[in-house]
Amino acid sequence: MAKRGKWFAALLFAAALAAGGIWLFQAQIGAWMFDRGVAAALERDEIAALPEGLHVAMCGTGSPLPDPSRAGPCTAVIAGDRLFVVDIGAGAVRNFGPMGLPVGDVEGVFLTHFHSDHIDGLGELLLLRWTGGGHTDPLPVIGPTGVARVLDGLAAAYTIDSRHRVDHHGETVVPPSGSGGQPRAFAVPQPGEMRTVYDEGGLRVQAFRVDHGPVRPAVGYRFDYAGRSVVISGDTAREETVAAACGGCDLMVHEALNAGMVRTMERAVAASGDGRLAQILEDILNYHTTPVEAEAIAAQGEAGMLVLTHIVPAVPNRFVEAAFLAGTGDRYSGDIVLARDGMLFSLPADSDRIDRDMLM
Ligand SMILES: [Zn+2]
Ligand SMILES: [Zn+2]
Repeated sequence: MAKRGKWFAALLFAAALAAGGIWLFQAQIGAWMFDRGVAAALERDEIAALPEGLHVAMCGTGSPLPDPSRAGPCTAVIAGDRLFVVDIGAGAVRNFGPMGLPVGDVEGVFLTHFHSDHIDGLGELLLLRWTGGGHTDPLPVIGPTGVARVLDGLAAAYTIDSRHRVDHHGETVVPPSGSGGQPRAFAVPQPGEMRTVYDEGGLRVQAFRVDHGPVRPAVGYRFDYAGRSVVISGDTAREETVAAACGGCDLMVHEALNAGMVRTMERAVAASGDGRLAQILEDILNYHTTPVEAEAIAAQGEAGMLVLTHIVPAVPNRFVEAAFLAGTGDRYSGDIVLARDGMLFSLPADSDRIDRDMLM
């Protein structure tokens, strides 16, 4: 017994010594960890590590309603080794680094519509893609008519900053001609029409009209590359066009709003006397899609997997996530995934596999 006691005391002493050492040398340990972190971040190349194919990385899965764990709407699409972005909400650009996605390599942005939550991060993306990549041409921003006005406004807002960057770093490091975005507007597709808006290097992107009224124009996109396909709904009420655009696609990324939860918020807000906010919560119900409706669209479109994003309202933990998805699971045989920031869906070329990973 005495022997055991001595061992225990020695162990306790060693643990205390180690804790004391860690406390004493915390700055040195922190500096070592920082050095390692910088080296690891520089070595990291998530895109090069992907197999040939089409890949989707969730750079922002939130909505206008605040959610500390979700950036604003942003879906990165990687075709081979080329990086594109669909919508760019607040905070989304700041996920790129932790996800191992090089902002300077973004080759194009596709906008679904011009609600602020879908463009809040565009100025930041344009700036970081320019300064990070040293490009001599502005970034192509592809969207329905109206995209030029958005870019004109951002150019005005960033004029002074851009001048500061050039003055400070020089024209060789940040060529003035590469600042900002270049609008590539397309006319809104007719109902049911699939309009090709990008066709280069084996990647074809088609836009289709969705129902986000009174917000017009509003479109979704279908990406086809290497025998794989992804459909992104954009913001829409339940819309059969999304199912038709999918037509057996591999992955459907669909927006989702839980109407019961929003009604709970609306009642609470109304009871607190804020009729104005209650009205806004009532209004948003009619131009979004519930998870149950999105499941029906995925089933109708025979999607290989359904990923729900643009999550309204915030779902802070697994229990609330389960409540958010309540009622789904009966109509659709594929997996339904409630997206989180950092999720990766990898579709290797000419296969029917969908591999999942977390990039952060
Ligand atoms: Zn919207
Ligand atoms: Zn939105």
